[in-house]
Amino acid sequence: MDVYNFPYQHYLKNELPEEMQKLADAATAATELAYAPYSKFKVGASVLMSDGTILSGANQENASYPIGVCAERAVLAGIHVSEDYKVKAIAVTFTSDAPVGDNPIAPCGMCRQSILEMQHRQDSPIAIYMCGPGGKVIMIEDAEFLLPFSFGSKDLPSFKPQV
Ligand SMILES: [Zn+2]
Repeated sequence: MDVYNFPYQHYLKNELPEEMQKLADAATAATELAYAPYSKFKVGASVLMSDGTILSGANQENASYPIGVCAERAVLAGIHVSEDYKVKAIAVTFTSDAPVGDNPIAPCGMCRQSILEMQHRQDSPIAIYMCGPGGKVIMIEDAEFLLPFSFGSKDLPSFKPQV
């Protein structure tokens, strides 16, 4: 029997390199951009681009619940990657008035698929920093690890690479 293993690291935010602490802080700040009147669960996501730029997004809920957009996809939708402008890392965290603890949160399945599409599109790995409001962080170096046996462009015979 084959077993799927992947590497990941536990950190406290203040143990991260300064650049990644800034990224995690940006994700926390982005929770203020959330529109979450239904769940009261405010998610912020920030990406670190290869030129050092940090971009952020937040979850945007809707009275028609399925229409809502997660923070990760909200920020990724505004990025056009190129050979010298790639996503290096994405950090995601949350705030909530409800007692939901301080464990790191992970991207949902739909966002994992979207992050992986961006990774394939730019042909370089995206590290994922899953952060909790109390400072706990789980880091995965490659989005591929979060979506084993993924469906992607390789499965579509009509796919032609383009950025
Ligand atoms: Zn999501």
